[in-house]
Amino acid sequence: MDKIDILSLGLDELEKILTELGEKKFRAKQIFQWLHVKRVFDFDKMTDISVQLRTLLKEKFCINGLFIQKRLESHTDNTVKYLYRLNDGNFVETVLMEYNYGYSICVSTQVGCKMGCNFCASTIAGYVRSLEPSEILMQIYNAEADRNIRVSGIVLMGIGEPLDNYENVLKFLSLVSDKNGNNLSLRHVSLSTCGIVPKIYELAELKLGLTLSVSLHSADDRRRSEIMPVNRKYHIPELITACKYYIQKTGRRITFEYAVIDGVNSSEKDAGRLSDLLRGMNCHVNLIPVNKVKERNYHTTRGAAAVFAEYLAKRGINATVRRTLGSDIEAACGQLRRDADKEIQGNGGADK
Ligand code: SAH
Repeated sequence: MDKIDILSLGLDELEKILTELGEKKFRAKQIFQWLHVKRVFDFDKMTDISVQLRTLLKEKFCINGLFIQKRLESHTDNTVKYLYRLNDGNFVETVLMEYNYGYSICVSTQVGCKMGCNFCASTIAGYVRSLEPSEILMQIYNAEADRNIRVSGIVLMGIGEPLDNYENVLKFLSLVSDKNGNNLSLRHVSLSTCGIVPKIYELAELKLGLTLSVSLHSADDRRRSEIMPVNRKYHIPELITACKYYIQKTGRRITFEYAVIDGVNSSEKDAGRLSDLLRGMNCHVNLIPVNKVKERNYHTTRGAAAVFAEYLAKRGINATVRRTLGSDIEAACGQLRRDADKEIQGNGGADK
């Protein structure tokens, strides 16, 4: 029988399993704190647990660790980009950013992505599988240990579509915010989606307090379908209705992500359409100068995002241009993983 991935278990689940094994309930909390507070990932180092119980733990459970395969450090700011190797040899990326209020981390939720947005490197490298809650969590715990810091904000904006790994992402959110464990308020978490409408409704019901970011990138249905295949299933009007429901249900403002791409979505007419679509909504627009992806010809001229922001401002829509951090280690999301796969295929699997 496969061992149980202990880092993916909530405290209640761990309590249940341990009591079924004949242990006292309070042991679960002790172990949970070793893992999530003291960050000890070796059962033998859990010193207030009896040798007997430690042996049982080793028999029944595994600790699903990640390994830092590559670390890219920015020389212009303190951004660090990690390429993590998972236990099965797959890779994911994580970015740690320093702001004046603290550290924020961008985590991946899947190995690759099925969504097929054609400006995104995560899609080009192909989809393999969803991440376990422990694998999302350990991207954070490893980076914190590596830098000896604590992160104060999390964005689910790395590789993958969080709402396509809904159960595990919810589990991760509950683990990361557990009062007996890591205890980070979900108010400091943003979840970014390409717009899986039914899941937006489900998430609204949970009123988690997190910020929902919706990757819009075009207010024109035809154009959006060209660049984001998910739009062929859930058209813009449906998506906006779901967003309005989310805002009304949760009382939270939505952020719309908009990557400004020359000749695709950057004209004044595009800004007009976007303003008409969002007028009156409790939302904010985050403009991102599109990151170059080797395989694609998309680009943005310098300042195009700022010009687009002005077009929106003229129409009464609030927008900011996302600050670029770590521009010297810029590798659009998913590119490190793709390159690592290629390298490893090319050199017989040797670690670099
Ligand atoms: N699947 C989720 C989260 C991962 S992508 C989503 O679609 O929102 C995180 C953000 O980066 C999304 O807004 C995505 O559209 C954007 N993005 C992807 N590739 C990009 C690129 N080349 N340039 C700028 N933004 C990009």
